[in-house]
Amino acid sequence: MSEGNRKEVIKKMSDLLRSGAIMLDQSCPLCRTPLFKLKSGEVVCPIHGTVKVVKSESEAVSVTTSAVLDELEKFIAYRIYQVLAKIKAVDEVNIEDIEVLNKLLDSLERTRRIKKL
Ligand SMILES: [Zn+2]
Repeated sequence: MSEGNRKEVIKKMSDLLRSGAIMLDQSCPLCRTPLFKLKSGEVVCPIHGTVKVVKSESEAVSVTTSAVLDELEKFIAYRIYQVLAKIKAVDEVNIEDIEVLNKLLDSLERTRRIKKL
């Protein structure tokens, strides 16, 4: 985490505390930042917003898995964007780029299919 990000997180955490939220002894499955319970009862991560509170280990695994798949989906989409940007910049398409795009699209499709399971 960069210095700027950390400062922002600390600011968000202090804003939460000021608004009457309570810091919990649980942490976000994605970023390990302590979770906060709002006055409304909603549990939030200062970085990821609303977090589903899990009751069992198996539920925790499935929530973590879906969060990881979300991240993976974003990452693949970003890589596709990078390849497209490269193709546009040189204004020519080569076979390797097409192969990379195909693989990325396959991964994206697979990720989305797994998410639906
Ligand atoms: Zn988080």
